Amino acid sequence: MQQKKCLYCKEPFVGRADKKFCNSQCKSAYHNQISQSYESYIRLINKQLRANRRALYKACPSGKATVRKSFLKKLGMDFKHLTHTWKSKNGILYYFCYDYGYTASVEDGKVLIVQQQDYMK
Ligand SMILES: [Zn+2]
Repeated sequence: MQQKKCLYCKEPFVGRADKKFCNSQCKSAYHNQISQSYESYIRLINKQLRANRRALYKACPSGKATVRKSFLKKLGMDFKHLTHTWKSKNGILYYFCYDYGYTASVEDGKVLIVQQQDYMK
């Protein structure tokens, strides 16, 4: 037995070396807190992914389009977040948000937006 400090309420308690909480309520409150922060993080990323998909869709409702990155940012795009990548036969990497993707354009500061095709899956 040794003097310990509860991970949740920070109160001192006496317990075995592997004990981290003063009681089971503190233990479950601590784990709920962790899963809630994960959940809200996941929700936040999901929201951004949907916003990215919406921005790509608005900029390119059908087929292909070359647009400025700054235009996509104005539409709510955050280039950090994507769902997957796809590499073409000639080695061009596409970044996807669900069914919409983009790749670097030959023109500076622009991207080429594409809709995902069956062969890309
Ligand atoms: Zn406690």
